[in-house]
Amino acid sequence: MTRQQPTPPAAPSAAPPAGHIVRGLAGAIGNTPLIRLARASAATGCEILGKAEFMQPGGSVKDRAGLGIIEDAERRGTLIPGQPGIVVEGTAGNTGIGLTLVANARGYRTIIAIPKTQSREKIDFLRMIGAELRLTEAKPFSDPGNYVHVSRRIAEELAAAGERVIWANQFDNLANGAAHEAVTGPEIWDQCGGRVDAFTCAAGTGGTLAGIARALKARNPGVRIILADPMGSALYSWIKTGVLKAEGNSITEGIGQAARVPGNLEIAREFIDDAVQVADPEALEQVFDLQIHEGISVGGSAGINVAAAIRVARAMGPGHTIITILCDGGARYQSKLFNPEFLRERGLPVPPWLA
Ligand code: PMP
Repeated sequence: MTRQQPTPPAAPSAAPPAGHIVRGLAGAIGNTPLIRLARASAATGCEILGKAEFMQPGGSVKDRAGLGIIEDAERRGTLIPGQPGIVVEGTAGNTGIGLTLVANARGYRTIIAIPKTQSREKIDFLRMIGAELRLTEAKPFSDPGNYVHVSRRIAEELAAAGERVIWANQFDNLANGAAHEAVTGPEIWDQCGGRVDAFTCAAGTGGTLAGIARALKARNPGVRIILADPMGSALYSWIKTGVLKAEGNSITEGIGQAARVPGNLEIAREFIDDAVQVADPEALEQVFDLQIHEGISVGGSAGINVAAAIRVARAMGPGHTIITILCDGGARYQSKLFNPEFLRERGLPVPPWLA
């Protein structure tokens, strides 16, 4: 018997093919995979697809907004590449991370106001990447101590002192939604070959939902756009009745608005066809299912989104394609969503492998 030649090892898959080298961090933002979610699809007879934003360099969908806002400021000349500049923002964490990474790559300082109640992981990561942190108490938007107002005042004071500074103002700065309209929406359309019946996702600033909604509706006005809203947010009632009314609460971070409609969402009202409201246990079921059965680790807002996509699929019936956003990764919430004590204290289900 002749000895078989050993099979040569495959070429390392990490080697980038010629022509695929990107330029710095900005070039690495975007182009995330669109993942078919097997269990959600099987349960509904639909194709449920999740845009894997947890794979961005900064770990969330907000890298796109951070890049869009800084590039817009540079186009306007309020920031000048190669010259000192400061980016100030109030954030639940992810926008701060996206802004800080892009600012680092461009040579700007970043000052971030963030409520102390946001996950320790996000706050530690912001500190690690060099953001100058201003931790605030968790106050409603009507209170001057709210993180958004704190960040605005810091930017105003620095501008008055003669610094070259921008207040990123992700809620009302339309460069946020514009980045999703120009990039994320077209990516989704190309990835699914235009086969999309509905798109659903939650809104913090509304930039993701509104930008993608505009891009998809421009290509096919028949695509249904559905807001996914956590409990404690007034946006569901705003879409359903035109009146802001909030009830209940949620452990999810970065989504929902209790008392106002951000500018990025307001301008897209005409593109939003409906809304669904998802409570934490339903969202957590999806977070845990994706984690343990599909190896996809996501945070709470992605859980809200996938739960909403399943509801939309059931309402539309089998054979439809529903797309949603997997906004960030589970490791960002180890101390919360994946912490048995945290879950038990709030009467939320603890998955068996964590119990
Ligand atoms: N999910 C998470 C985890 C977020 O941090 C954010 C942004 N605050 C969102 C969803 C919502 O994105 P957008 O601001 O574009 O509405």
